[in-house]
Amino acid sequence: MRALVLRAANTPFELVDMPDPIAGPGEAVARVLACGCGLTIQHYKAGRMRLAFPRIIGHEITGEIVEIGAGVTSLKVGDPVTAYYYLNCGHCRYCLSNLEPLCDNLNGLVGKECDGGYAQYIKLPARNFICLPEGLDYKAHPAEIGVVTDALATPYKVLKRARIRAGESVAVFGAGGGLGIHQVMMANWAGARVIAVDIAKDKFAACRKAGAHEIVDASKDDVVEALKDLTGGRGVDVAVDYVSSTATLEAGAKALGKRGRLVTLGGAGKPFQLSAKDLLHKEQQILGSRYVTRIEVIESLELVARGEVWPLVSEIRPMEQAEELHALVENGKVTGRAALRIT
Ligand SMILES: [Zn+2]
Repeated sequence: MRALVLRAANTPFELVDMPDPIAGPGEAVARVLACGCGLTIQHYKAGRMRLAFPRIIGHEITGEIVEIGAGVTSLKVGDPVTAYYYLNCGHCRYCLSNLEPLCDNLNGLVGKECDGGYAQYIKLPARNFICLPEGLDYKAHPAEIGVVTDALATPYKVLKRARIRAGESVAVFGAGGGLGIHQVMMANWAGARVIAVDIAKDKFAACRKAGAHEIVDASKDDVVEALKDLTGGRGVDVAVDYVSSTATLEAGAKALGKRGRLVTLGGAGKPFQLSAKDLLHKEQQILGSRYVTRIEVIESLELVARGEVWPLVSEIRPMEQAEELHALVENGKVTGRAALRIT
């Protein structure tokens, strides 16, 4: 098969021919049609997140099952699939409680601890393949369908985690990013009043198109003041922070109104300060939101199948242009998601 292999941190992809993977017991192999290219996997490539080399990265796939290993009953050859990102155990307390991202025995991530989707074929534990629901034209739109498993499902899960309701105000920090813009889209779909917060002026038009009702330019405005002004001084009901730096988390916390919820995801995990008095007096909540469960992937795919939302993939390139595509992602030049067409 043709595969894009990384041999060391911060080095170019090598497009090589290598043996096709073979499904062992409990495993399956899919032919990959497309694979999303987000900032997380660029972090791997650039050496900002640790990776064991050589490695084939990528996890936001659309594919078709071509081989199943012994004992696999959940899949058959020809099934259209996407991949679940986490290699969770399936049997610990958290997996059994439908909280798979919190698995006690997490074995790693697809495209990090095992080879991923930047190749013509991908082998995974069978339970990491999720069959696509009816009604998705995955052959015509493999890139868009592929990114649902992360870029759309992660914001979808945040709607539930933060209990976002129609009519509430939702500020999205990092709204111009690949996940942020889909959060704008999903919060709009949920009936919220969406306020996009970002420093990248060139993404503001896309934020509006994705469903933002208001824009706060964090490069020049005082974000807390702007969010208070836009909500009649009350503060926002929800702040979703895809930047999650100390500064953005502190701004998000200060901008919350009564019963406000701050959601952190992404970022470097640094400490931040907030007012315990506000938490108490305004009954506020601070929440983390980690990836998604399988059913949230399926529900997100069903939303797309029903035409409720459509993933924003603005750059689709062949495997030969993986290096150029990653340079665009590295430099923040992609609106929404980028993806590779795998042939
Ligand atoms: Zn588990």
